[in-house]
Amino acid sequence: MTESSALYQEVILDHNRRPRNFSVLPNATVEERGINPLCGDELTLYLRMDGDRIADASFQGTGCAISRASASMMTTLVKGKTRAEAEAMFERFRGLATGQAGVDDLPSSLHAFAGVARLPQRVKCAVLAWHTLHAALENGASDDGSMDEESGSDAQEPGSRPR
Ligand code: ZN
Repeated sequence: MTESSALYQEVILDHNRRPRNFSVLPNATVEERGINPLCGDELTLYLRMDGDRIADASFQGTGCAISRASASMMTTLVKGKTRAEAEAMFERFRGLATGQAGVDDLPSSLHAFAGVARLPQRVKCAVLAWHTLHAALENGASDDGSMDEESGSDAQEPGSRPR
């Protein structure tokens, strides 16, 4: 089996040929740019946040098949997810792409990226969209001023229940 046949699995080729969510999101609440200078991949990620949930996601950009397919799958998978769920998926995907973790708990479409871990120069292509998502979620957190930045604590008390 050649390297490329392992890497460019059909699901990756399909998402590269027909990327999902490949558009500018008109009512985006967060916009984040990601660049992978090693390969020349560039993308802009658009998210529409509804409170703590990602109501919609899309991307635009240019890049190799791996980066494009990864962004296409990522935007598809995080729609409807909460910030915490999306961050957890980012951590697991990064683990898979860097060979630190297996495919457990990851959606089957992402299993195609397991082969990337053996090709160090391709790892950044695969994780670019996810790193951009991570940055977008961090930057978007204080966008509407609903979070108290001064607290600096990661404790998440609901706090809204009157007692
Ligand atoms: Zn690339």
